[in-house]
Amino acid sequence: MPNIKKLTENLEKNGFMVSYYETGVEAVKAIAAAVNGKTVGIGGSKTIEALGLFEALKDHNSVSWHWKQTSPDANDVSAQAQVYLTSANGVAETGEIINIDGTGNRIAAAQYGREKVYIIIGVNKIAPDFESALWRARNIAAPLNAKRLDRKTPCALSSEMKCYDCDSPERICRGLSVFYRKLNGVKDCEVVIINEELGY
Ligand code: SF4
Repeated sequence: MPNIKKLTENLEKNGFMVSYYETGVEAVKAIAAAVNGKTVGIGGSKTIEALGLFEALKDHNSVSWHWKQTSPDANDVSAQAQVYLTSANGVAETGEIINIDGTGNRIAAAQYGREKVYIIIGVNKIAPDFESALWRARNIAAPLNAKRLDRKTPCALSSEMKCYDCDSPERICRGLSVFYRKLNGVKDCEVVIINEELGY
């Protein structure tokens, strides 16, 4: 079982806001109530898709998400939004937040210029320390995403769940983002912890 108390204390020490919900339904209700009349961008996230956050926000905000909109500039619009929603590939109880990206839209938009960034995670994303959170991002989240995207990478083609640090042209792991502290270029960053297994 992850140590939520330790995680919360360390995230807050590192400058993040933290909220905790037993269910995704409660978390969505709280986020939908807090985000009103804003431009909102969303990064690729199975967690956010499973929660139905796009649907919960779109009627009272201007929401851009490239997973729901075929517009070629959806990522550019998201990158200018007041509020940005993403998940994480690994969060350490010691207070670091890790994401691996292929395109870069998700890690770029979450790092600068936003009024508020929400990092929304199920408890399956939590690891005891930085090294194990990074291991999780590389050896669990990334291979599952490569499989989801049907990439011809060794991690997606193999039955063994691990990263091969491949040189495939279809490699999805092209950038690594680590938040050691809340970035100064983002006004507020809230980690929303949900006591469910969500996403990869
Ligand atoms: S580096 Fe290659 S093998 Fe490793 S997880 Fe990424 S795509 Fe898969």
